[in-house]
Amino acid sequence: MSCPVSDACELHQQLRSSVIKRVRYPNVLSLCESSTGEGCALYGHLAAGRTLPRNLLPDGSTGEWADDSQSVARRYLIIEDSQVFATLTASALRTRSTGAIVDVRPSFAEAESDLGSTQYTAVICGYGLGGEHTVHDVRRVTRAPIVVLTGRPDEIALPSGSRKVMKASGPDALIAAVRELTA
Ligand code: SF4
Repeated sequence: MSCPVSDACELHQQLRSSVIKRVRYPNVLSLCESSTGEGCALYGHLAAGRTLPRNLLPDGSTGEWADDSQSVARRYLIIEDSQVFATLTASALRTRSTGAIVDVRPSFAEAESDLGSTQYTAVICGYGLGGEHTVHDVRRVTRAPIVVLTGRPDEIALPSGSRKVMKASGPDALIAAVRELTA
């Protein structure tokens, strides 16, 4: 039994890559590996796709585990209503971009305020984003590069600064498009 959101959990990822942080917070990884997230203050935020309060620890207190330089350098937003697909996409970004922050929102409506207030390295989303909203609404709010993950084989009009990647192409195609747009 392990926490189902560990791939998307920045604290978990940071502790896995830092001996110093594991020593500083010795009980966290054992919690991640032996629980379903219940009782962890971070779990509710991640499971609901909300941004984590900065430096939050599982017991609800505040530590100093966040990596300032990396989080400022690379922060991605995924807008995706499938939690499974969002988790897979977030995992691909974290694996290829160690230390990156990945925010996940299920719709444009729930992402709009973050798009307006956060400088993202790139946004990864589908074409339709809930209700009448599309990727063109994302471009209206931010100038960040956009990777449009879609299963539609037909031509679709995309906003400037975006690339279409077929969902079936897999994580390598996604990462290649992100790198191309953010180089
Ligand atoms: S148990 Fe808490 S700290 Fe560990 S992966 Fe889950 S949400 Fe993150």
